[in-house]
Amino acid sequence: MMKDHLVRAVAADASVRAFAVTARELTEFARASHNTSPVITAALGRLMSGALMMGAMLKGEADTVTLQISGDGPVKGLTARADGAGHVNGYALEPGVILPANARGKLDVSGAIGKGVLRVIRDLHLKDPYVGTVDLISGEIAEDLTWYFASSEQIPSSVGLGVLMNRDNTVRAAGGFILQMMPFVKDEVVDAIEEKLTAFPSVTSVLDQGASPEDMLRMLLGDLGLEITAKNEVSFLCGCDRKRVEKSLISLGKKELASLAKDAAAIGEDGKEAGIELRCQVCNKAYHFNEKELRALL
Ligand SMILES: [Zn+2]
Repeated sequence: MMKDHLVRAVAADASVRAFAVTARELTEFARASHNTSPVITAALGRLMSGALMMGAMLKGEADTVTLQISGDGPVKGLTARADGAGHVNGYALEPGVILPANARGKLDVSGAIGKGVLRVIRDLHLKDPYVGTVDLISGEIAEDLTWYFASSEQIPSSVGLGVLMNRDNTVRAAGGFILQMMPFVKDEVVDAIEEKLTAFPSVTSVLDQGASPEDMLRMLLGDLGLEITAKNEVSFLCGCDRKRVEKSLISLGKKELASLAKDAAAIGEDGKEAGIELRCQVCNKAYHFNEKELRALL
Protein backbone atom coordinates (compact mmCIF):
# COMPACT_ATOMS: atom_id res chain seq x y z
CA MET A 1 0.00 0.00 0.00
CA MET A 2 1.21 3.50 -0.88
CA LYS A 3 2.32 5.81 1.92
CA ASP A 4 0.06 8.72 2.82
CA HIS A 5 0.93 11.65 0.65
CA LEU A 6 -0.24 15.01 -0.56
CA VAL A 7 0.05 16.69 -3.93
CA ARG A 8 -0.34 20.30 -4.94
CA ALA A 9 -1.33 21.19 -8.48
CA VAL A 10 -2.56 23.91 -10.79
CA ALA A 11 -4.75 23.68 -13.89
CA ALA A 12 -6.21 25.89 -16.61
CA ASP A 13 -3.23 28.28 -16.73
CA ALA A 14 -3.10 28.47 -12.93
CA SER A 15 -6.68 29.78 -12.73
CA VAL A 16 -7.43 26.68 -10.64
CA ARG A 17 -5.33 25.41 -7.77
CA ALA A 18 -5.79 21.95 -6.37
CA PHE A 19 -4.75 19.75 -3.48
CA ALA A 20 -5.30 16.06 -2.87
CA VAL A 21 -4.24 13.74 -0.09
CA THR A 22 -4.37 10.15 1.07
CA ALA A 23 -4.49 9.68 4.82
CA ARG A 24 -5.18 6.02 5.57
CA GLU A 25 -2.15 5.41 7.75
CA LEU A 26 -2.41 8.58 9.80
CA THR A 27 -6.16 8.11 10.30
CA GLU A 28 -5.54 4.53 11.43
CA PHE A 29 -2.85 5.85 13.81
CA ALA A 30 -5.36 8.28 15.33
CA ARG A 31 -7.99 5.54 15.57
CA ALA A 32 -5.64 3.16 17.36
CA SER A 33 -4.26 5.88 19.68
CA HIS A 34 -7.65 7.11 20.84
CA ASN A 35 -9.64 3.91 20.28
CA THR A 36 -12.19 5.92 18.30
CA SER A 37 -15.51 4.46 17.20
CA PRO A 38 -16.12 4.13 13.41
CA VAL A 39 -18.15 7.34 13.12
CA ILE A 40 -15.56 9.34 15.06
CA THR A 41 -12.72 7.77 13.06
CA ALA A 42 -14.50 8.94 9.90
CA ALA A 43 -14.99 12.44 11.30
CA LEU A 44 -11.37 12.71 12.42
CA GLY A 45 -9.99 11.30 9.16
CA ARG A 46 -12.02 13.82 7.14
CA LEU A 47 -11.01 16.71 9.40
CA MET A 48 -7.31 15.77 9.38
CA SER A 49 -7.34 15.35 5.58
CA GLY A 50 -8.85 18.83 5.24
CA ALA A 51 -6.34 20.27 7.71
CA LEU A 52 -3.41 18.74 5.82
CA MET A 53 -4.50 20.32 2.54
CA MET A 54 -5.06 23.67 4.26
CA GLY A 55 -1.62 23.25 5.83
CA ALA A 56 -0.24 22.92 2.31
CA MET A 57 -1.72 26.37 1.55
CA LEU A 58 0.44 27.97 4.27
CA LYS A 59 3.59 29.85 3.30
CA GLY A 60 5.94 28.57 6.02
CA GLU A 61 6.60 24.97 7.09
CA ALA A 62 6.31 25.96 10.76
CA ASP A 63 3.03 27.83 10.25
CA THR A 64 0.00 25.91 11.46
CA VAL A 65 -3.69 25.69 10.74
CA THR A 66 -6.12 24.35 13.34
CA LEU A 67 -9.64 23.25 12.49
CA GLN A 68 -11.89 23.20 15.52
CA ILE A 69 -15.44 21.94 15.39
CA SER A 70 -17.80 22.48 18.32
CA GLY A 71 -21.29 21.05 18.07
CA ASP A 72 -24.32 20.04 20.09
CA GLY A 73 -24.04 16.39 18.93
CA PRO A 74 -22.61 13.58 21.09
CA VAL A 75 -18.96 14.06 20.04
CA LYS A 76 -19.10 17.66 21.38
CA GLY A 77 -15.88 18.70 19.68
CA LEU A 78 -13.17 17.70 17.21
CA THR A 79 -9.81 19.30 16.58
CA ALA A 80 -7.20 18.77 13.87
CA ARG A 81 -4.00 20.73 13.47
CA ALA A 82 -1.60 20.65 10.55
CA ASP A 83 1.61 22.44 9.71
CA GLY A 84 3.05 23.42 6.36
CA ALA A 85 5.39 20.43 6.34
CA GLY A 86 2.84 17.62 6.10
CA HIS A 87 2.30 16.86 9.80
CA VAL A 88 -1.13 16.62 11.33
CA ASN A 89 -2.76 15.54 14.56
CA GLY A 90 -6.31 15.33 15.77
CA TYR A 91 -8.57 14.24 18.56
CA ALA A 92 -12.22 14.11 19.58
CA LEU A 93 -13.68 15.16 22.92
CA GLU A 94 -15.85 12.02 22.99
CA PRO A 95 -13.98 9.36 20.96
CA GLY A 96 -16.35 6.47 21.67
CA VAL A 97 -19.61 7.78 20.20
CA ILE A 98 -21.67 5.01 18.56
CA LEU A 99 -24.50 5.96 16.19
CA PRO A 100 -26.62 3.98 13.74
CA ALA A 101 -25.86 4.51 10.03
CA ASN A 102 -27.64 7.43 8.36
CA ALA A 103 -30.44 7.14 5.77
CA ARG A 104 -27.88 6.47 3.01
CA GLY A 105 -26.31 3.66 5.03
CA LYS A 106 -23.19 5.72 5.76
CA LEU A 107 -21.41 6.61 8.98
CA ASP A 108 -23.44 9.45 10.46
CA VAL A 109 -20.74 12.10 10.91
CA SER A 110 -23.20 15.01 10.89
CA GLY A 111 -25.30 13.22 13.51
CA ALA A 112 -22.25 12.91 15.76
CA ILE A 113 -21.35 16.58 15.33
CA GLY A 114 -24.79 18.20 15.33
CA LYS A 115 -25.29 21.94 14.96
CA GLY A 116 -22.37 24.16 15.77
CA VAL A 117 -19.42 26.11 14.46
CA LEU A 118 -16.19 25.54 12.57
CA ARG A 119 -13.27 27.65 13.70
CA VAL A 120 -10.19 27.96 11.50
CA ILE A 121 -7.10 29.26 13.29
CA ARG A 122 -4.03 30.10 11.25
CA ASP A 123 -0.87 30.71 13.22
CA LEU A 124 1.59 32.38 10.88
CA HIS A 125 3.91 33.40 13.73
CA LEU A 126 2.67 36.97 13.59
CA LYS A 127 1.49 38.84 16.68
CA ASP A 128 -1.97 37.28 16.67
CA PRO A 129 -3.25 34.17 14.94
CA TYR A 130 -5.85 34.67 12.21
CA VAL A 131 -9.20 33.22 13.29
CA GLY A 132 -12.24 32.66 11.06
CA THR A 133 -15.50 31.18 12.34
CA VAL A 134 -18.49 29.93 10.38
CA ASP A 135 -21.66 28.10 11.34
CA LEU A 136 -21.67 24.46 10.28
CA ILE A 137 -23.98 23.97 7.32
CA SER A 138 -24.07 20.16 7.21
CA GLY A 139 -21.69 18.75 9.83
CA GLU A 140 -20.30 16.42 7.15
CA ILE A 141 -17.09 18.51 7.18
CA ALA A 142 -16.40 18.75 3.40
CA GLU A 143 -19.46 20.97 2.84
CA ASP A 144 -18.55 22.98 5.91
CA LEU A 145 -15.03 23.64 4.62
CA THR A 146 -16.45 24.59 1.20
CA TRP A 147 -18.74 27.07 2.96
CA TYR A 148 -15.84 28.39 5.06
CA PHE A 149 -13.74 29.12 1.95
CA ALA A 150 -16.67 30.83 0.21
CA SER A 151 -17.88 32.94 3.11
CA SER A 152 -14.72 33.65 5.08
CA GLU A 153 -12.09 33.80 2.34
CA GLN A 154 -14.22 34.56 -0.74
CA ILE A 155 -12.59 31.67 -2.63
CA PRO A 156 -15.05 29.49 -4.58
CA SER A 157 -13.91 25.96 -3.74
CA SER A 158 -14.95 22.37 -3.97
CA VAL A 159 -13.96 20.04 -1.13
CA GLY A 160 -14.30 16.25 -1.18
CA LEU A 161 -13.37 14.15 1.85
CA GLY A 162 -13.90 10.51 2.69
CA VAL A 163 -13.01 7.74 5.12
CA LEU A 164 -13.86 4.09 4.54
CA MET A 165 -13.68 1.47 7.29
CA ASN A 166 -12.88 -2.24 7.14
CA ARG A 167 -15.25 -4.75 8.73
CA ASP A 168 -12.94 -4.98 11.75
CA ASN A 169 -13.25 -1.18 12.18
CA THR A 170 -9.69 -0.41 11.08
CA VAL A 171 -9.28 2.25 8.39
CA ARG A 172 -9.48 1.01 4.80
CA ALA A 173 -9.07 4.33 3.01
CA ALA A 174 -9.01 8.04 3.83
CA GLY A 175 -8.28 11.23 1.98
CA GLY A 176 -9.74 13.94 -0.18
CA PHE A 177 -9.27 16.89 -2.48
CA ILE A 178 -9.74 20.65 -2.59
CA LEU A 179 -10.19 22.58 -5.84
CA GLN A 180 -10.09 26.38 -5.73
CA MET A 181 -11.03 28.89 -8.40
CA MET A 182 -8.84 31.96 -8.69
CA PRO A 183 -10.54 35.32 -9.46
CA PHE A 184 -9.50 35.24 -13.14
CA VAL A 185 -10.89 31.75 -13.83
CA LYS A 186 -12.92 31.49 -17.06
CA ASP A 187 -16.60 30.53 -16.96
CA GLU A 188 -16.05 27.58 -19.30
CA VAL A 189 -13.41 26.19 -16.92
CA VAL A 190 -15.83 26.43 -13.99
CA ASP A 191 -18.51 24.68 -16.08
CA ALA A 192 -16.10 21.90 -17.09
CA ILE A 193 -15.09 21.33 -13.46
CA GLU A 194 -18.71 21.23 -12.32
CA GLU A 195 -19.37 18.54 -14.91
CA LYS A 196 -16.40 16.50 -13.67
CA LEU A 197 -17.49 16.88 -10.05
CA THR A 198 -20.97 15.65 -10.91
CA ALA A 199 -19.51 12.60 -12.63
CA PHE A 200 -16.98 11.92 -9.84
CA PRO A 201 -18.21 8.83 -7.92
CA SER A 202 -17.09 9.63 -4.34
CA VAL A 203 -13.79 10.01 -2.56
CA THR A 204 -14.23 6.73 -0.68
CA SER A 205 -15.10 4.73 -3.79
CA VAL A 206 -12.16 6.00 -5.85
CA LEU A 207 -9.74 5.55 -2.94
CA ASP A 208 -11.10 2.04 -2.41
CA GLN A 209 -10.18 1.29 -6.02
CA GLY A 210 -6.61 2.28 -5.21
CA ALA A 211 -6.62 5.84 -6.53
CA SER A 212 -3.69 8.04 -5.51
CA PRO A 213 -4.03 11.79 -4.88
CA GLU A 214 -2.65 12.31 -8.41
CA ASP A 215 -5.33 9.99 -9.81
CA MET A 216 -8.11 11.95 -8.11
CA LEU A 217 -6.85 15.22 -9.59
CA ARG A 218 -6.43 13.60 -13.01
CA MET A 219 -10.06 12.49 -12.90
CA LEU A 220 -11.16 16.03 -12.03
CA LEU A 221 -8.71 18.24 -13.91
CA GLY A 222 -6.96 15.95 -16.39
CA ASP A 223 -8.61 17.66 -19.38
CA LEU A 224 -7.74 21.13 -18.11
CA GLY A 225 -3.95 21.22 -18.32
CA LEU A 226 -3.32 19.70 -14.89
CA GLU A 227 0.21 20.28 -13.63
CA ILE A 228 1.35 18.61 -10.38
CA THR A 229 3.66 21.14 -8.71
CA ALA A 230 4.63 19.37 -5.49
CA LYS A 231 4.33 16.05 -3.74
CA ASN A 232 5.23 15.15 -0.16
CA GLU A 233 4.60 12.49 2.46
CA VAL A 234 2.21 13.30 5.28
CA SER A 235 2.02 11.80 8.77
CA PHE A 236 0.53 12.06 12.24
CA LEU A 237 2.76 14.04 14.59
CA CYS A 238 1.79 15.25 18.02
CA GLY A 239 4.94 17.01 19.15
CA CYS A 240 4.37 16.33 22.84
CA ASP A 241 7.29 15.34 25.05
CA ARG A 242 8.07 14.89 28.74
CA LYS A 243 9.32 18.48 29.09
CA ARG A 244 5.99 19.83 27.88
CA VAL A 245 4.05 17.57 30.27
CA GLU A 246 6.30 18.76 33.13
CA LYS A 247 5.55 22.36 32.21
CA SER A 248 1.82 21.73 32.28
CA LEU A 249 2.22 20.03 35.69
CA ILE A 250 4.12 23.05 37.03
CA SER A 251 1.39 25.35 35.71
CA LEU A 252 -1.13 23.53 37.94
CA GLY A 253 0.39 25.30 40.96
CA LYS A 254 2.10 24.12 44.14
CA LYS A 255 -0.99 22.97 45.98
CA GLU A 256 -2.28 20.77 43.15
CA LEU A 257 1.20 19.40 42.47
CA ALA A 258 1.74 18.50 46.14
CA SER A 259 -1.57 16.68 46.18
CA LEU A 260 -0.61 14.76 42.99
CA ALA A 261 2.69 13.78 44.63
CA LYS A 262 0.75 12.45 47.62
CA ASP A 263 -1.50 10.47 45.24
CA ALA A 264 1.55 9.17 43.42
CA ALA A 265 2.99 7.81 46.67
CA ALA A 266 -0.27 6.15 47.64
CA ILE A 267 -1.01 4.51 44.31
CA GLY A 268 2.06 2.28 44.56
CA GLU A 269 1.13 0.72 47.89
CA ASP A 270 -0.26 -2.48 46.38
CA GLY A 271 3.19 -3.39 45.10
CA LYS A 272 2.94 -1.84 41.63
CA GLU A 273 5.31 0.89 40.58
CA ALA A 274 4.26 3.99 42.48
CA GLY A 275 3.20 7.01 40.51
CA ILE A 276 0.59 8.67 38.39
CA GLU A 277 0.07 8.41 34.68
CA LEU A 278 -0.77 11.42 32.55
CA ARG A 279 -1.95 11.06 28.98
CA CYS A 280 -1.47 13.54 26.17
CA GLN A 281 -4.90 14.72 25.00
CA VAL A 282 -3.77 14.91 21.38
CA CYS A 283 -2.01 11.54 20.87
CA ASN A 284 -2.93 9.68 24.07
CA LYS A 285 0.71 8.87 24.86
CA ALA A 286 1.21 8.00 28.55
CA TYR A 287 3.71 9.80 30.77
CA HIS A 288 4.53 8.27 34.13
CA PHE A 289 5.58 10.34 37.15
CA ASN A 290 6.50 8.98 40.58
CA GLU A 291 6.38 10.89 43.85
CA LYS A 292 10.06 11.88 43.74
CA GLU A 293 9.75 13.30 40.22
CA LEU A 294 6.67 15.28 41.17
CA ARG A 295 8.35 16.65 44.31
CA ALA A 296 11.31 17.70 42.14
CA LEU A 297 8.95 19.79 40.04
CA LEU A 298 7.76 21.47 43.25
ZN1 LIG B 1 0.96 13.86 22.33
